[in-house]
Amino acid sequence: MSRKLQAPRGTLDVQPADGRRRLQIQRIAAELLGRGGYEPFDTPVFEDTDLFARGVGASTDIVQKEMFTFEDKAGRSLTLRPEATAAICRAYVEHGMHKLPQPVKLWSWGPFFRHEAPQAGRFRQFTQVDAEALGSDDPSLDAELILLLGELIERAGAGPARLRLSSLGTPETRAAYLDELRAYLREHEGELSEDVRDRLEANPLRAFDADHAGTQVVMAGAPRLLDRLDPADAEHFAEVRALLDAAELAYEVDSTLVRGLDYYTRTVFEFESERLGAQAALGGGGRYDRLIEELGGPPTPGVGWAAGIERILLASQAEPESDSRVYIAVLAEGRKDAFLLARLLREQGIRAEMEQAGRSMKGQLKQADRIGARATLIVGDQIEVKDMDSGEQQPVSDAGEAVSRVRELLG
Ligand code: AMP
Repeated sequence: MSRKLQAPRGTLDVQPADGRRRLQIQRIAAELLGRGGYEPFDTPVFEDTDLFARGVGASTDIVQKEMFTFEDKAGRSLTLRPEATAAICRAYVEHGMHKLPQPVKLWSWGPFFRHEAPQAGRFRQFTQVDAEALGSDDPSLDAELILLLGELIERAGAGPARLRLSSLGTPETRAAYLDELRAYLREHEGELSEDVRDRLEANPLRAFDADHAGTQVVMAGAPRLLDRLDPADAEHFAEVRALLDAAELAYEVDSTLVRGLDYYTRTVFEFESERLGAQAALGGGGRYDRLIEELGGPPTPGVGWAAGIERILLASQAEPESDSRVYIAVLAEGRKDAFLLARLLREQGIRAEMEQAGRSMKGQLKQADRIGARATLIVGDQIEVKDMDSGEQQPVSDAGEAVSRVRELLG
């Protein structure tokens, strides 16, 4: 017997109720980001592997463990995109977007892929909405993007969310700080987890993320980058904070916030749901002022975020919107008229479904009930309109009158 076919591990099928909610969130995102001047943008779902190795950072978990990498027929190494920013920066350089008025503000929506151990809220294929502002280091962009993500989470029904905020400074401050942190970790090597010890040289910041109790004790006394920022970075961070304060958005400054990607400079932030378990991060991001240059472009600052749609849906308590429907019941002689009436109603912006499964009239009326139709049109030699709330049924003289009557009923 052949093996039962199922969706691959860590992936999911989007079924209609879920699909409707996703579309709703996508519309909210399009509206919110559109009003902020963000333009829709998209990049391929696969890229040269090298882009992520260079862009995301060779020592990150994403690059070391989580990429879906394959060779194409010409032997090129390609990778299913694990995140959005590196590709958007690649596109910025490739299309010479530095020649456009700055900042270039973009948003996108689509599937991303990480080979992680699946669990609640963690998938191997997931959907992100992503927003980026390239070409300016103005702190108002950091604050604007944070507000936009906060508002998206609220409007998607996934609030309240806790906002954690920090600054990682510039690469130079960070390098000096990392030396200091490495020296501190080496002093306490015996108390650290094996994993942290193994990556002490390559990525000592990850020690702040460790679950290991001994490591956590050591990290409580570790030097903090926020106390080492140079004056320009400290001022930038103070301005971001002042704007968030002015907008009355609550946040916690958390100097242990490290994100799992190497490219961040200055601002980093993350929104966490209070309703989710271990995988609580709804979305996060930060500034990446050196990334475009590292990918071969002119020195160009940038800031952005990504949010996980599956997580937002898990945290969301909003009901899917349901639109008023009209059902068209068909008697044999009315088949063509019913078909044209369905088209007419749809052209008028009304959701209309006609009988298409060979049901009896009794079965058709039952189906109208089942789908929650507000009105049913019964189409034979003539057209009758049934108010599904009162049960009242009246003939109308033609299709035009049927549409008017339906409009009255839908309110
Ligand atoms: P990151 O760039 O890793 O911070 O990811 C941004 C957001 O994408 C996270 O806050 C999550 O909401 C979502 N996300 C990341 N990885 C996964 C995953 N494996 N499954 C589902 N959502 C994810």
